[in-house]
Amino acid sequence: MIVVLKPNTPSQTENEFIDHLKSLGFNVHISHGIDHTILGLIGDTSRIQPESFIVYDFVDNVMRVQAPYKMASRSFHPDNTSIQIGEGLPNVLPCTIGDGNIVVIAGPCSIESEEQLISIAQEVKKSGARLLRGGAFKPRTSPYSFQGLGSKGIELLLSAKKATGLPVVTELMSITQLDLFNDIDVIQIGARNMQNFDLLKELGGCKNTILLKRGLANTVKELLMSAEYIMAAGNSNVILCERGIRTFDSYTRNTLDLSAVPFLKRESHLPVVVDPSHACGMSWMVPTLAASSLVAGADGIMIEVHNKPECALCDGEQSLTPAQFDTVMSRLKKYAAVEDKTL
Ligand code: PEP
Ligand code: MN
Repeated sequence: MIVVLKPNTPSQTENEFIDHLKSLGFNVHISHGIDHTILGLIGDTSRIQPESFIVYDFVDNVMRVQAPYKMASRSFHPDNTSIQIGEGLPNVLPCTIGDGNIVVIAGPCSIESEEQLISIAQEVKKSGARLLRGGAFKPRTSPYSFQGLGSKGIELLLSAKKATGLPVVTELMSITQLDLFNDIDVIQIGARNMQNFDLLKELGGCKNTILLKRGLANTVKELLMSAEYIMAAGNSNVILCERGIRTFDSYTRNTLDLSAVPFLKRESHLPVVVDPSHACGMSWMVPTLAASSLVAGADGIMIEVHNKPECALCDGEQSLTPAQFDTVMSRLKKYAAVEDKTL
């Protein structure tokens, strides 16, 4: 439920009212706009009648929020959320996602060696990527496949961050790994963990931005509910990621649900990223899907890049070479200009 206070409500009245709402058992999320203060009641509002608040002369309006993802919902937070990444860190090139421009995240599926990671990092930076990705803990379908370098991979990623100044994105699979992620700018929650609710709750307490990927068989509303878990637990810096879903067709690795992008942008204020690499699973299709994602309204695009895709320990078939990535970036810059955005 959302309670909108009238303009110029005295702060003492506002505070007393908030105390009253808390005494009724609600957590209250306060949003001060230019004219109005909006109070979001978090908790079971089904037992409250909107009329019981309308009686106060300082209350302008009371709305039931249909969407159960109140904090992620645009009705509660009409303006786009933009998230600053790497801001204020020495020798890091900060970037902002969600401000209307396009941020490209690039790097290998898995971190394999220092040489591999640094060379890819330098190349993608040169082409205009703003964040470096690379998996250290890998969620593989087979227990016999390469599982990632683990803590050593995190170390290598942090040295690539130091060498290039690019903020970094990497996947967290278990709460037990969280201590290793202090200097990771963006924690990725992969498709397979989108509904690991204990993990999501734990992320509410960390300062890192979270890149939340849509599950293989999850609806967009479930994605928003998972974002809500993180936000309700205290971390509002959440980026949503469409990365393809399972459908009956198998000509691509997954089916890129491109209509999820305008839907999410309409329904939520959070930035939206598309990962065309995992969506299609074929490097030749990535450039077209990346361009389509930009035009569909994505705030960011995440692309897998490998210096030797044919030798990659994971997802080589969908990885672009640095040269191919450079061509994609030139193409994306043109599309961005048409959309009145920068890249
Ligand atoms: C990845 O980004 O490397 C990854 C494993 O992605 P997803 O969780 O979308 O499969
Ligand atoms: Mn991958």
